[in-house]
Amino acid sequence: MNEFSLINKIKQKNYKQAGLIKGVGDDAAVFSNNNSHIVTAIDTFTENVHFTKKTLSSKQIGYRVLAANLSDLAAMGAKPAYYLVSIVIPDNWTESNILSIFQGMNEIASRYHVDLIGGDTVSGEKLTVTVTVIGLCHPKKVRYRSDAQAGDIVFITGTLGDAQAGLYSLVNDEVSVQDKAYFIKRHQRPTPRITFSNLLENVKRLSLNDISDGITNEAAEIAEASQVTIHLCDENIPIHPSLQQFPYQLKNNWIYNGGEDFELIGTVAREEWAKVKEAANKTKTPITKVGYVTYNSETNGNVYLWKNNKKERLIKKGYTHLSRR
Ligand code: ADP
Ligand code: MG
Repeated sequence: MNEFSLINKIKQKNYKQAGLIKGVGDDAAVFSNNNSHIVTAIDTFTENVHFTKKTLSSKQIGYRVLAANLSDLAAMGAKPAYYLVSIVIPDNWTESNILSIFQGMNEIASRYHVDLIGGDTVSGEKLTVTVTVIGLCHPKKVRYRSDAQAGDIVFITGTLGDAQAGLYSLVNDEVSVQDKAYFIKRHQRPTPRITFSNLLENVKRLSLNDISDGITNEAAEIAEASQVTIHLCDENIPIHPSLQQFPYQLKNNWIYNGGEDFELIGTVAREEWAKVKEAANKTKTPITKVGYVTYNSETNGNVYLWKNNKKERLIKKGYTHLSRR
């Protein structure tokens, strides 16, 4: 495999973004933009930490790393525009496998009109893909975690726990699982909630976070950043009916601490809930009211789960890299 012929093959023939001035092919990419804020995020995916040969095909590696990144832009309310890819390629990976990774990225990128404008290609020990995304957003419509207020409704898109059920089904392939293909797809090809998030432009104030580490963590991040208390109702948390087949401990852990569903959790004023529902309807995004926000100087920063009329404090447990050191 040759670095330059590879770059030639992954280079887009046409670019979709009007603001792009120079894509792949010079020392750096150039784009211009008039009045938007520029929103950017980065994600790294590395073999045997984020995936194995058993859990993701080459194409799915590409699809998923870009989906995770686009989900961060959705959680900021930004419109995705560009991405850059740094890839470390070990000797035992063939060019066709590497091209499949780029195909996977291209598939989701073209759906959202996102252009590949640059990157870096090096050889190394372990397959590692790092993707940077760049999005654009109206300055007043960036959705910060710190924008929740007492009285807000808490909502969630989609269903929780599916991606972890899918990963479990892939790793324990001898276990028979009902709706296995559905759960596996939710792990391998998650849907970032971009179209929904981008339709929320008419909502005045909104806090959003994407569920990459489990709802407990994501809700706590909003509660901490906004200095409010978040209450969730266990019976309202949306799950797929077939998630019920799994043992309580597993499924409960997947729902609250599992993550990687790349759904959105948000808070919005009651008066604006109708607008959020309308955006969900228009984009066919399932959406559920799951709780509410209060202000109490003793409990702000915390998340409580109401279950059978009793409340318990949810303690963060999502996956933390480096925690074993
Ligand atoms: P330089 O030596 O100036 O850094 P490179 O030879 O690394 O340039 O890259 C040449 C061009 O190809 C640049 O536009 C760079 O952004 C692009 N490029 C390199 N690797 C990738 C990649 N993995 N994905 C997308 N574009 C890439
Ligand atoms: Mg370079």
